[in-house]
Formats: sequence, structure tokens, C-alpha cells
Amino acid sequence: MSKTIIISNRLPLQLKIHDNSIETIPSVGGLATGMKSVHSGNNSIWIGWSGLTEGSYEQSLQPKINTALREHQCVGVALSKEDIDGFYYGFSNNTLWPLFHYFMEYTEFERSTWESYQEVNQKFADVVLDQIEDGDTVWVHDYQLLLLPKLIRKKRKNVSIGFFLHIPFPSYEVFRTIPCREELLEGILGSDLIGFHTYDYERHFLSSVQRILGHEISFNNVNLENRVVKVDSFPMGIDYDKFYNTAKFHNQQSNKERSEIQQEIDKHLADTNKAKLILSIDRLDYTKGIANRLRAFEYFLEKYPEFKGKARLVMLAVPSRSEVPQYQRLKNEIDQLVGRINGKFAEVSWTPIWYFYRSLPFDNLIDLYTSSEVALLTPIRDGMNLVAKEYIASKVDKKGVLILSEMTGASNEMSEALIINPNNFEEIADTLKYALEMPEAEQIKRNTALQKRLKRYNVEKWAKDFMQALESTKQVSKKYA
Ligand code: UDP
Repeated sequence: MSKTIIISNRLPLQLKIHDNSIETIPSVGGLATGMKSVHSGNNSIWIGWSGLTEGSYEQSLQPKINTALREHQCVGVALSKEDIDGFYYGFSNNTLWPLFHYFMEYTEFERSTWESYQEVNQKFADVVLDQIEDGDTVWVHDYQLLLLPKLIRKKRKNVSIGFFLHIPFPSYEVFRTIPCREELLEGILGSDLIGFHTYDYERHFLSSVQRILGHEISFNNVNLENRVVKVDSFPMGIDYDKFYNTAKFHNQQSNKERSEIQQEIDKHLADTNKAKLILSIDRLDYTKGIANRLRAFEYFLEKYPEFKGKARLVMLAVPSRSEVPQYQRLKNEIDQLVGRINGKFAEVSWTPIWYFYRSLPFDNLIDLYTSSEVALLTPIRDGMNLVAKEYIASKVDKKGVLILSEMTGASNEMSEALIINPNNFEEIADTLKYALEMPEAEQIKRNTALQKRLKRYNVEKWAKDFMQALESTKQVSKKYA
């Protein structure tokens, strides 16, 4: 019986070694949830890196680790510290990540990390080829594995390969600057189906394929010599019911049961005469426009001083890639900005920015979502932005206003939000005022439409649609066989 193989850089679980035993902690993130329907029964395996580098644990534990992974239908790809430095921190995060998010000035191209990227993609391919059989279906995820579809296809013709990119695909004019552009495109084109979050990313990809490799494109198909590759957009959703139902449950909790953070929020609301909360949540990444947002908020308080004491920015920045110098510099910049703005405007009973640099447990996130009147999300570039969707899903009473950057993939599906250009402070300041004063009836009207769409296009539907489209490419391939 044929099976499905899911491949991502990280496995959907974390391993912890206690003396002689292995603990597995399954991930609860969006991808793991979305893949539930695909990665179920005995008919699928998930291949990826376990998070443990070779040599960081006793070799004698390897059989136990393999068994622990097997129990979750996972197979590990063994990677060394050098692999992680070159392939992950190097080429994936210092080359592809900034380039694909239009940060060309941050994009480094080093031969050694490119070589490491090729070697590690081959290591993934070796594990896949060890597991795969004719008739199997493969779903490869994201920018760390752009070469993998071709490496699999080279050795196995009778399998169906899908690839999904979770970050933007940049315009041809940006993509063309990378030296290994042919190899990257050819790597992805090993697939039968290539998926992106938005139609724009899809278009950028097709235009690069046409102009760099010279392949003929008809509608959204790439015509290769002996195969057709289908390219389409599949905007990723969230586990809508999980957010909605948890928020509903929290709303019903009595004061005594409220989480610590909710009690803090309650206290602040009482202290500051019900200052309205403006929420932002992101990983501390230069693509997220955090510094811009702070400056725009400063400008807002200058332009509309009547909101002093009446509104507060609650900013959660989740530590990310903190070994990388660019991220350390960004953290310093944010720390200084928050300090300066708070110093400039603070009053005895009100500070304008309430800043957390940490990650929060799911329940606390829900408390932040439900307690904030406004969400202000201002990425400079973002493949999708799930926080925008989670904020709306958590609004059980349908009250709350989402201000969302037009540079996010999510803005394509969320036109009832207040869409802004993250570089336009004037627009952000005016939109913030509009959001804080928006009548409840308008909030409810906008959120009703948004929630309906998010509930329908949830993450399960996203995975199902992709798998169905991949299945239908088999019929097309047969015609060309
Ligand atoms: N998130 C989290 N812990 C936190 C803050 C956020 O797990 O303390 C989650 C959040 O719920 C969302 C994800 O991190 O699902 C961020 O996804 P998004 O698409 O917004 O941005 P990314 O970090 O993937 O670029």
C-alpha cells in the first residue's frame, strides 16, 4: 500500500534526553496541526531533523532515539553542528531568508554555506530514498529544502512530489541576484505540484522560471520536456476552532481562575482608567517591522496627544535566532526605542509601551488576543502572518480591530481588516485613531466576515486542498507518460 512522506527541516516534536531515557514532546505549532489529517494512521512518515546534533549525546542512545521517533512515525536525518551552522544558520537564514523577504542588504552569499546546503539536502534525500517506494506521495516543506524535490525525482520516477514554500517568493528582479538561481529553480521543479501562500508569490516564481530557465509557461503550468509541473496558491489557515473555543472558555472563567497575565492585564486596565490595549506579537525578526511600528506609535502619540493615558501598546517579541549578529543588533535597537519612547511620554499612572521579550504559553497568548481592542501588525514582508488570523479567531464577541500590513500574505484574504503600508507613519497614526474610535457595529460587521472565511479555510482545509491537487496531478502525469 502506498504511503505519504512529509519532509520538513524540523520534525514535529522535540526530544529530551534524561540519563538513559528519551522523552518526546510533540509540537503544537500550525504546521503540525495542519498535517494531522495527512500524518495519521499507519500510512505516513515524517522525515526531518530531530533538533539533536550528532555528537551532542551518547552514541549508544541512538537506537532508543530511533525507537522514540518511530513511535510517532518519524524518521530522523542526522546532522552535525557544522551542518546546522552552514546549511541552517548560513545558507537558509543568512542567504535565502533575507533575499526572499527583499532584504538584499542582509543577504550574504558564501560558497561554503551553499556547499553545506547542497550536502544537507542530499542527506535528507538519502533518508527519503531509503524509505520511499513506487507509488508513494511526498510533501516537501519550505526554503531549507529547495533542492530536495529534484534529488528525489532523479532516483525515483514513479512517485508524486509536492512542494510548499512557507515564505514569500520574491520578484524576478530580486531573485535573479543569487548566484545559484538555476540550481534552486531546478531543485523545486523536481516536484509535480508547487504551492505558495499567494497568487503574487506564484506569479513571481513562474516569471523567474520563464526568464532564468527559459521554460514555457501555460496558465499555471510549467511545461518541461517530459513533464508538466503545476503551480498554485494555497493560503495557509489556522486551527480556527482551537482559538475560538479556548477564547470562549477563558471568557467564561471566574476571576480566581484567570491566568497570571490576565490578572496583570485586569490590574492595568483598572489602574489606567481602562486604557485601550493595542497588541502586537511577532518573533523578533527584521522582517516584522517592529522598529517601524514603535516609531509610528511614537508619531501617533505626538500627532494625537489626546490618546496619552488612553491607549497602550502591548508588544510581545519572541526571541528568535539570537545567535545571529543582525538579530542581536535588532534587539538592542528595540530595547533602546522602547526605553526612549517610554521615557519621553510616561506619566505616573501610564507608560505607553508594555514590552515582553519572551515566548508565552498558548493560554497567555489567548488572554492577550481577547483583551486587546486593537492588533497592530506591521511586517515589512511576511509570507503569511498567522497572528493576524489568530487574533480575529479569538474574538468571540466579534469586537476588536485588526490593523494589518499590506506586505503580509494574510492581507490578501483579510480585506475587512484596516490595511496599511508599514512605511507610512502618517497612515498608521491615522488608522490607529480610526481603529480606537471605530463603532462596535462596524467592528462586528468586519469581524463577522473575517471569521466566516477563517473558519472555512482553516489549516486542515489547506492541507486537504494541497493533497487533493497533488493527487490530481497524477492524472495529468499519466497522460504524458
Ligand atoms: N506564537 C507562539 N508563542 C508566542 C508567540 C507566538 O507560539 O509566545 C505563535 C503564534 O501563535 C503564531 C506563530 O507563533 O502561530 C507565529 O506565526 P506567524 O505566521 O505570525 O509568524 P512566523 O513566526 O511564522 O514568521
